[in-house]
Amino acid sequence: MSHFWSSVVHGLTPYVPGEQPKVAGLIKLNTNENPYGPSPRVLAALQAEVGDSLRLYPDPNGESLKNAVAAYYGVTPPQVFVGNGSDEVLAHVFLALLKHEQPLLFPDITYSFYPVYCGLYGIDFVTIPLTAALAIEVTDYARPNGGIIFPNPNAPTGRLLPLAKIEALLAGNPDSVVVVDEAYVDFGGESAIALVDRYPQLLVIQTLSKSRSLAGLRVGFAVGHPRLIEALERVKNSFNSYPLGRLAIRGAVAAMEDRPYFEQTRQMIMRTREELVRNLRGFGFEVLPSAANFVFARHPARDALQLAAGLREKAIIVRHFRQERIEQFLRITVGTDEQCNALCRALAQILGA
Ligand SMILES: *Cc1c(COP(=O)(O)O)cnc(C)c1O
Repeated sequence: MSHFWSSVVHGLTPYVPGEQPKVAGLIKLNTNENPYGPSPRVLAALQAEVGDSLRLYPDPNGESLKNAVAAYYGVTPPQVFVGNGSDEVLAHVFLALLKHEQPLLFPDITYSFYPVYCGLYGIDFVTIPLTAALAIEVTDYARPNGGIIFPNPNAPTGRLLPLAKIEALLAGNPDSVVVVDEAYVDFGGESAIALVDRYPQLLVIQTLSKSRSLAGLRVGFAVGHPRLIEALERVKNSFNSYPLGRLAIRGAVAAMEDRPYFEQTRQMIMRTREELVRNLRGFGFEVLPSAANFVFARHPARDALQLAAGLREKAIIVRHFRQERIEQFLRITVGTDEQCNALCRALAQILGA
């Protein structure tokens, strides 16, 4: 019955997220979820919101959340946009700010949702190869463009671009929007939000899915010049007036406010990551320097797909990408110490180490 499909649908190549297996008991290190639960203050806030008020629509503008994000980052609420996960925020960004005559630029190895949005909205793009060390080189982006987007740290490499390099990119690119997708910045980077007041073409995207352990609540936000935010609001209000429900708004506000829990859990993840990196290198893996809650590693003598299959037999799932240049890498989410130790024991058996 595909003749019912529009030509747009025929032309789509949808994004495929990492699997969410239904079987219990797996050690799930494949989608960069946080191994620690959300803040207890978030859970209390969610429970407090469950009640009669759910019959009413939520605040269409999510003002309380914009205020919480603005307070956290020392910006003003008109510089903040909120959405149903940063994937939705990104979707609006592509349509509102990145669809132009000149091609959009992004790295050849990056978040694989970017080309999918380009396909959905008919956006012309050019990929810029990472260096041989799988790093972003900002001078490679000095060419006519209709916008630039990349994650920092990059995904799935985990490599961080220092803020000074981002500033150099902004200085050389005053006439189109530069989007920095900071899904993992809390695990070792410095946010480019510090630069938004000086660079009106800069838009920074963040999510509560990773460092605030709320992937299931679906909340993301963007910070930038009020005119950029206005463009996003125009698209959002032409699409869905209420992208965030009452629970999402209330829980996200509590998450932004509970700094001690956030600080404690992200520090634990960073400590576990360093231990995991040491252990993987001990097994002979080449591990890229990571500023994220995952590591990207390849073994010089073992096929990545076979390693992933071997781990799966031991009930541990990691992510593998069938993509040129990285097909021998595994992306491994940093779990708890116990989960990472179980991973290392499994690898020791598989590798006979
Ligand atoms: C996880 C991730 C997102 C999506 O986050 P959600 O807020 O859960 O939609 C966006 N960008 C990158 C690079 C990510 O890794």
